[in-house]
Amino acid sequence: MFHPVPSKVNFPQLEENILTLWRKNNAFERSIDARRDAPWFILYEGPPTVNGSPGVHHVLSRVFKDIIPRYKAMKGYHTFRIAGWDTHGLPVELEVERELGFSSKAQIEEYGVEQFNARCRQSVFSYLKKWEAMTERIAYWCDLKHPYITMDNNYIESVWWAIKQLWDKGLVYQGYKTAAHCPRCGTSLSSHEVALGYKDDVEDPSVYIKFKIVPSSLPHSEAHQRLSKLFSAKPAYFLAWTTTPWTLPGNTALAVAPDAGYAVVEIDNEYLIMADALREQVGLSAYKVVDRVNGSALVNLKYEPLFNPHHFGVERRRFHMHSQLALQKPITNLTYAVIAADFVSLEDGTGIVHMAPAYGEVDFEAGQKKGLDFVHVVDLQGKMMGSYPFAGKFVKDADPLVIEELKKKNLLFRSEKIRHTYPFCWRCETPLLYYVKQTWYIRTTAVKEELIAGNNEINWYPGHIKHGRFGDWLENNVDWAFSRERYWGTPLPIWRCESCGHPECIGSLDELKTKPGFSGLKQPLDLHRPFVDELTFDCPQCGAKMRRVPEVIDCWFDSGAMPLAQWHYPFDNETLLEDGRFPADYICEAVDQTRGWFYSLHAISTLLFNHPCFKNVICLGHVLDAKGEKMSKTRGNVVEPSVVINKYGADALRWYFFTAVPAGNVYRLDDKMVTEVTRRFLLTLWNVYSFFVTYANIDQFTPGSEAASLEPSELDHWVISELNQLIVDVTAALDNYNPTEAGREIENFVNDLSNWYVRRSRRRFWKSENDADKLSAYTTLYHCLVTLSKLLAPFTPFLAEELYRNLVVTASPQAPDSVHLADFPVADATKIDKRLSADTRLVMKVSSLGRAARSQAGIKVRQPLAKVLVSVSSPSEQRSLERLAPQVLEELNVKEMEFIDSVTDLVKLGYVVSSEGSYAVAVPAEISPELRAEGLAREVVHRLQTMRRSAGFDIADRIVTYYQGEAYIRQIMADFASYIKQETLSRQLIEGIPEQGVFTESHRLGGYDISLAVKRLT
Ligand SMILES: [Zn+2]
Ligand SMILES: [Zn+2]
Repeated sequence: MFHPVPSKVNFPQLEENILTLWRKNNAFERSIDARRDAPWFILYEGPPTVNGSPGVHHVLSRVFKDIIPRYKAMKGYHTFRIAGWDTHGLPVELEVERELGFSSKAQIEEYGVEQFNARCRQSVFSYLKKWEAMTERIAYWCDLKHPYITMDNNYIESVWWAIKQLWDKGLVYQGYKTAAHCPRCGTSLSSHEVALGYKDDVEDPSVYIKFKIVPSSLPHSEAHQRLSKLFSAKPAYFLAWTTTPWTLPGNTALAVAPDAGYAVVEIDNEYLIMADALREQVGLSAYKVVDRVNGSALVNLKYEPLFNPHHFGVERRRFHMHSQLALQKPITNLTYAVIAADFVSLEDGTGIVHMAPAYGEVDFEAGQKKGLDFVHVVDLQGKMMGSYPFAGKFVKDADPLVIEELKKKNLLFRSEKIRHTYPFCWRCETPLLYYVKQTWYIRTTAVKEELIAGNNEINWYPGHIKHGRFGDWLENNVDWAFSRERYWGTPLPIWRCESCGHPECIGSLDELKTKPGFSGLKQPLDLHRPFVDELTFDCPQCGAKMRRVPEVIDCWFDSGAMPLAQWHYPFDNETLLEDGRFPADYICEAVDQTRGWFYSLHAISTLLFNHPCFKNVICLGHVLDAKGEKMSKTRGNVVEPSVVINKYGADALRWYFFTAVPAGNVYRLDDKMVTEVTRRFLLTLWNVYSFFVTYANIDQFTPGSEAASLEPSELDHWVISELNQLIVDVTAALDNYNPTEAGREIENFVNDLSNWYVRRSRRRFWKSENDADKLSAYTTLYHCLVTLSKLLAPFTPFLAEELYRNLVVTASPQAPDSVHLADFPVADATKIDKRLSADTRLVMKVSSLGRAARSQAGIKVRQPLAKVLVSVSSPSEQRSLERLAPQVLEELNVKEMEFIDSVTDLVKLGYVVSSEGSYAVAVPAEISPELRAEGLAREVVHRLQTMRRSAGFDIADRIVTYYQGEAYIRQIMADFASYIKQETLSRQLIEGIPEQGVFTESHRLGGYDISLAVKRLT
């Protein structure tokens, strides 16, 4: 006997019960141990940043991480998988800053780095608990008891080792380069972090500035002489355009396109110079052009700085020897010059580009190349320095004041607003500034070709990411700015001599401890700041003290180093690279990780080992709300995973994520969609399961006892064929990392199982004799459900376990006690009958057209018809249908099927036709009195069956039926008595009014009143 299965189910409760069971019998650990000697299948867990509660997008990536190893385990692989937590970096620091109400690094310094980092550590641990609970609840099976944690000393030591390898190869350098800088966080960001934070439609100023030309400076040429004459008559200006007025005090050059045409426009008794092609766009087309020259004629012309830095207490430096910046003496009559450049756009602006080498990559490179002046007017908090009227203001707040100043000086041509795309800090949403500053870099550009070649070995799902989003990212590789001027992170293991500047990179704790003069070590060991900053040793060059540089590293380097750091390689697990743990067979995260973890993994493993570290990757789309909008607290459209799970269960959410859209697409999630999934799939399956168990228990069906005496029907053959085809399809899809296709195939099968196999087999389960046909039906349906439980185990691990334990474990104690310890089903190819499958599809199609024709004619399916006319597309299809005619006749409740070549004229002959393509089914609109009587009898049966349920009778209860009605009704009850009795399990049909308390209903059927009553026999 199986445990009884009610038709109503509470999935969340069922899942909680199974979780308790799994916990009690160590299901996960045993699922790993059971395959200890099998070949390995390696998942790398992309460590989530543990700085907040897990969201629904985390559930998405975690269930996708879960499904493939679960499947591989059932396919016979040893799939040990280890949880990981990303615990360092700005996300954590910001959370603590919020708690403490801090808004700057100065406040952290004042509070004390030791205390601050202690709070970071504590904060991480408080969220870990929530993450563990969520991970368990959604049945993401991974080793939570022995996770790797990026803040552990061992982990840090492995990261140090990796950095040392790069240092030794000359791939780590400190560069004076333009870096994206977050003024709030006070640190550089890497290009992949910048890529995470672009916002569209940001409003900024759009200003046109006049730079006053110094007339005496003209060299000699025919064009110059003409200009010289003009400029001595009236004041002349270069017109340039910018969206960052705060960079204007840093201007040290203007750039023109040497081959483009420039116009001298006369306006209000002044001359303005700009690109001829852009005059209309700027609104100067109505003014007189007094001269035209090529850009090259403007090169070397001098102009006055907008703000002479020496007047505002700001240093002026100049590029020399490439990237050195030499301090320059103050000059009162300072002038700058026009340069020629190939990056000048003639699409927007004025064709004259404002150059501030301190604030842009292009500007910086031009500064190096042309030996320009370098004026830096902004501090690391993003505030204007010097004694400008706008000094002390944050750059964005300084913008209007700069504009105001220029207006006062008559140097503002026009000021507008623009909406464009601008990068913001991905953590704190402060607008990023591009600064030239000293930052530590990893020379990833040195291995660009290897990065690209390695990517060719990786299978991306969906495939377009490989050469699209990821490939493009690699093609445009820039060196990795990987130092952070922060506190809570892996300390950059570089020590430098206080006296002579000699640098050393340290690759292990032992190496550090054995340095001459080593001191400062405290117990217990903590490699974080400020403790690591206390560790010093003697300079091998001059004997002075070596101190660690202040920076920590990008937390993306931490997570990207997990293939080795999770195993404390190379200090432990020395065989890691050869023993199968590297590279991973599979990783999975959302698409934004192409520039995050996917990249840092790939970059580090290419730099260290010149080899990709993952073979297959599923790249998931983002989760949006039902309208396709981003979920956010302010919009109030955030779907909380715990709310959904407590209402529908984790399986429902899993199934939704697996089947809603192919991986890579955007998910639109709300409550209704999970309801729909539950109704459409989980409850359909549950109803079949409940139906099976209910009848199997009544008939005391015991699986395995039947072998000898089966008489499988055509329907049994068909569903077993479909089941084996399903195993083939699901296996292929999962082997191809496509859970969506696999899931959809399963859903189609369950629909056919419920709506075709079970519906068409009902009578076989209901009939009273326990014959071979009935046993075949039970055996077939049992086999389908058990196989489904195994196919579903990777998708819906709870429901699969429920089915398996009740259907298999209760019946055969020697079977594995969990579906997750079972083997994945293997198809029996000999059972697949493609012909039968195609023929049955045909029957389904014709039946569906027949039902449509009936519905058009207003004739219920319960009303028997004399015949249907059927048209199919080929003689072979006709033969197939003839062979399966009994099924069609039964489905359509007709006595006879006739094939016709054409449906034309049928309407005139009194038929109603429904057609699709070359298929058509026609039913007669008229019904004979005999058939009408039979239809009425079927209606009576249907009402009685409904009444049995309403009265709360058990399926097998025998009853007495009472009826009352006019003569025609009485005639029907008499004529069809044996049919009605058999169908409704009525021992007797009694005419008359039943006694009090008997379940009674009155109906009007086919225009006649009838009273019916049902009484259970005890
Ligand atoms: Zn920031
Ligand atoms: Zn030294």
